[in-house]
Amino acid sequence: MNGCACSSFIELPLLDWQVAPYERPALSKGYLLPQGAARLPAFHTCAGANDEVLTEKWYKDHGIELVLATRVISADVRQKTLLTDTGETISYKTLIVATGARASELEEFGVRGSDAANVCYLRSLEDADKMVGAMRSCHGGNAVVIGGGYIGMECAAALVANEIKVTMVFPGKHCMGRLFTPKIAEFYEKYYAAKGVVFVKGTAVKSLEVSDGKVAATILRDGRRLPADMVVVGIGARANTGLFDGQLAMERGGIKVNGRMQTSDAAVYALGDVAAFPVALLGGDVRRFEHVDCARRTARRAIEAILEPSGGAAEEGKPFGYLPYFYSRVFALSWQFYGDNTGEAVHFGDFSPSGAAGKPKFGACWVSRGRVAGAFIEGGSREENEAMASAVRRGAAIADVAAELESCGLEFADEE
Ligand code: NDP
Repeated sequence: MNGCACSSFIELPLLDWQVAPYERPALSKGYLLPQGAARLPAFHTCAGANDEVLTEKWYKDHGIELVLATRVISADVRQKTLLTDTGETISYKTLIVATGARASELEEFGVRGSDAANVCYLRSLEDADKMVGAMRSCHGGNAVVIGGGYIGMECAAALVANEIKVTMVFPGKHCMGRLFTPKIAEFYEKYYAAKGVVFVKGTAVKSLEVSDGKVAATILRDGRRLPADMVVVGIGARANTGLFDGQLAMERGGIKVNGRMQTSDAAVYALGDVAAFPVALLGGDVRRFEHVDCARRTARRAIEAILEPSGGAAEEGKPFGYLPYFYSRVFALSWQFYGDNTGEAVHFGDFSPSGAAGKPKFGACWVSRGRVAGAFIEGGSREENEAMASAVRRGAAIADVAAELESCGLEFADEE
C-alpha cells in the first residue's frame, strides 16, 4: 500500500526500478493468492534463506550505495568501466555480474501479441501485478496458459485458486518436460485435471486473436481455437549476457565462470541465473541453473573467493561443490529435487491422488552405475528431504537408499 485517495486506499503498483532487489519465488506462488497474498518487504533478498532481509534501509545501514532506476547500457571489461543510461561512467576494481535472466517472448516463436493488456508474463513485480489485475478482471472466465514448465504449473494453480478456468498448452508429451519423468508428470496432470485444468499437449500457439488491444482467443498449430479472457506465458528464460557478449567467455547460454565464480576476466565474477559453472557433483560438468537456491549459493561462493583471493590456480580449477536443487509448491502439494535427472529413473511410493496416508508421498531416484545421481520427492518431511539430499550428495548405493525408503514405508514401484 503506497498511495491513497479520498478515504480509501488504492494499491499502486511498485515497479522493479523503485524497489530494492527481491527474491522471485513468491511472485508465482504467494503473490498470486486471492487472500493473504505475499507483498514486499516480505520477500526482499535473503528472506528465503532466513537471513537478514535486505530492504533499502539495510543497504543504507551497511554503507552500501544502492542505485535504483539506473540501467547499465554498456560495459568495457578491459577499461573496467560501466556506462549507465544517466550518462555516468562507473569504474570498478572488482565487478559482480548478477544480471539474471529474462522471460522468453512469444515473438521469438513468431507469435505476436505480447503487448496485449491481458497477456501476462511472470518475471518481475510489474508482471505479477499485471497478472493480479488480469485475474481480478476475469473472475469465472477462461485463461490459456502457454507452457507447462515452472511458470505454467505454478500460475495454473494460482489461476484455479482465483476461480478461473485454465487450459494449458505446450509442445511436449507431458508437463515439466525438463525434469519430470512421464510417471511423475502423470500424477500432477491428473491432480490438476481433478481441479478442472485442461491439458492440450503436443502442439503450440500459432497466433493470438487480438481485438481492441486484448486477446480474445489463442489459435493453435493444430487448428484449434481456445477462447481466452487472459493468457499467461511461461515458455522459458534466457540469461542476460548482452553487456558482455564478445568480452567474456560464454557457455550454456550464460557467462562461463570457474569454481570461484570468476569469469574469463579475473576482475569479473558472475553468479545466479547468468553463470555457467563447473559442478563437482557432476564430475566438473559446466551447468547453468535458473533457481534462487543457486543464486544464493553462488553469491556466497563469489564473495568468499573475492575476500580470500589466495586460492591460487589449483583452487581456480576446482569445481564448485554445489548440490543442484529445485522445488515447487502448488495447491496442497510440495516437491523437492536434488542432483541430476540422468540415468535410469526408479520410482517409489504411492502415486494415487490421495496417497496411502491421505497425502500423496512418492518420488524417484535417478540411478547411474548403481549410485543415486538425482532424487525427487513429493510430500516428503523435512527429514526425508534431507535424507534424499544427503543420498545424492554422497552418491549412495541405490540398494541402501531402497532399504532406507522401505523403512519409511516407501517401496520402489514396479515399472509399467
Ligand atoms: P521452463 O523452461 O520451466 O518451461 C518452459 C515451458 O514452455 C515448457 O513446458 C515448454 O514445453 C514450453 N514451451 C516452450 N516453447 C513453447 C511454445 N512455443 N509454445 C508453448 N509452450 C512452449 O520455463 P518457465 O517459463 O516455466 O520458467 C522460467 C524460469 O522461471 C525458469 O528459469 C524457471 O526455473 C524459473 N521458475 C522457477 C520456479 C521454481 O523453481 N519453482 C517457479 C517459477 C519460475 P516443452 O517442455 O513441452 O517443450
